[in-house]
Amino acid sequence: MNDKPRPPFVPVSIENALRVNRPQLGAEAPIALYRLLRLVVMEDLFGRAASAPAYLAGKQLGASLGLKDLDQFLKLCHDLKIGRISVEVRESGVIHVDVHECVTCSGMEPVGRPLCAFEGGLIAGVVGSIHGVKAQAREVTCIGGLGDETCGFDIKLGP
Ligand SMILES: [Zn+2]
Repeated sequence: MNDKPRPPFVPVSIENALRVNRPQLGAEAPIALYRLLRLVVMEDLFGRAASAPAYLAGKQLGASLGLKDLDQFLKLCHDLKIGRISVEVRESGVIHVDVHECVTCSGMEPVGRPLCAFEGGLIAGVVGSIHGVKAQAREVTCIGGLGDETCGFDIKLGP
């Protein structure tokens, strides 16, 4: 029997989760692993409703990162290889974000629905926290979900 005392039960923080000690394998893993968790496991757990918890999780994460401006967000997307991002403010006041080469879905056969709710939530959380308002993202195009050129999100800012 193992007599070593078990460490106290604590929530997993972002900082802790990002500590990596893999001297031989390093800090990177294939996109396949991410997609299995993000798409296959999430749908196994939540069925067709998987997009709602994925969106909320992304939004909470985005809001908790404490990013101060758009450049920090673009750097995050670059560092995590989420995709190549372009941002456009449309005349209606809607912020439109396009994700090229989306980590979640680029290259997939279309499955008849947008897939990137987590990314949408992440963008909404970050944009909302930068502007200090509520933000909502709607995925209007999706590469692997709908066969579009980009995963495109309309961001609406609220009070
Ligand atoms: Zn996507």
